[in-house]
Amino acid sequence: MSHTDALRKRFESAFMPNYGVPPVAIARGEGSVVWDADGRPYLDLIGGIAVSSLGHGHPALVEAVSRQVATLAHTSNLFLHEPEVLLAERLVGLLRAPARVFLANSGTEANEAALKLAIKYGKSRGRSYFVAAEMGFHGRTLGALSLTGKPAIRDQFGPFPIDVRFVPYGDADALKNAVTDDCAAVFLEPTQGEAGVVPPPDGYFRAAREICSAAGALLIADEIQSAIGRTGHWFAHQADGVLPDVVTLAKGLGGGMPIGACIGIGEAGTIFDKGDHGSTFGGNPVSCAAALAVLGTIERDGLLEHVTTVGRRLAEGIAAVDHPLLAGVRGRGLWLAAVLTAGRSAQVQAAAQEAGFLVNALQPDAVRLAPPLVITTSEVESFLDALPGILEAANE
Ligand SMILES: *Cc1c(COP(=O)(O)O)cnc(C)c1O
Repeated sequence: MSHTDALRKRFESAFMPNYGVPPVAIARGEGSVVWDADGRPYLDLIGGIAVSSLGHGHPALVEAVSRQVATLAHTSNLFLHEPEVLLAERLVGLLRAPARVFLANSGTEANEAALKLAIKYGKSRGRSYFVAAEMGFHGRTLGALSLTGKPAIRDQFGPFPIDVRFVPYGDADALKNAVTDDCAAVFLEPTQGEAGVVPPPDGYFRAAREICSAAGALLIADEIQSAIGRTGHWFAHQADGVLPDVVTLAKGLGGGMPIGACIGIGEAGTIFDKGDHGSTFGGNPVSCAAALAVLGTIERDGLLEHVTTVGRRLAEGIAAVDHPLLAGVRGRGLWLAAVLTAGRSAQVQAAAQEAGFLVNALQPDAVRLAPPLVITTSEVESFLDALPGILEAANE
């Protein structure tokens, strides 16, 4: 039996069945390539779900994390440390607006902070409900799950103690009708990630900003998947020229180290008072050092421009493939979905794996690509060269 199959068997007996048994046991990585437990290489086109922004084993990340863990690994929130201060200042600078930061350990925790902040905002103003989008994804803990518009992962754990009203994503009129003077906040992804990398129509996010401002509701942008260079911008909302009231971050921020952030812009930065929220591990020095290395490398190496260029090549290359199983491509930067004409994404993922590429069967008809931001043009070309054969194998 291969090492991979042996590990899969042991995984199956040791773990709860919530993930099923993943197909590949990854042993190590370098750049945009990972090797499985049997030494077989794969080009990593999913990057740990848009997390491994600098790829694997990036010297800047290794150096920052190693140095920090040897210097100081943990303080708790009873004490402060310089890496967290530097990171908060850096994030505020990138937002280009006065803001205050709360650091958490994951995406769902960043959204829990945003939700508590919005509840407090609403209570002081007699605003009692929230609006979120159908098929949106905000996390698995109960608060974030109550905002999540995917019935398959939400319904069996309801009812929830929070009044959330769902609107079709991308429909500005529906949003306008849903947001009244009683609405505390609107939670939206700038592009829906888990729903299939679905961008809204042009102008939707700007309309959401106007609707929220007119009604006095907070606009909360869940940028957990979309920010930190993924779309070729620090934040996806910057491409729309709008400023939300709250932004949540996680995934790519730590380059693989767990970290989340909830950022309140302007007055939203001072809604929490002393004692209102907290986290023992949030703002952990090692994760902060990792995030600083990610932000520093993106800036130093011009990765925003690189993402735009190489992402365009990837999207154009996919669009140019003429195959009956391929309907097209959507998304921006290095955050794309190859859209299929039939529900065969699982077969595409398996055929890609067989050909040495890791991709993600996100929806039955959508295959997600979210590679490291450092992926090279020649690596992208190698995938484009293999794509027709992968589609052919998946169509059999
Ligand atoms: C992944 C994701 C989350 C949840 O993040 P976790 O770190 O898995 O808790 C929330 N919102 C969006 C948009 C995401 O993509």
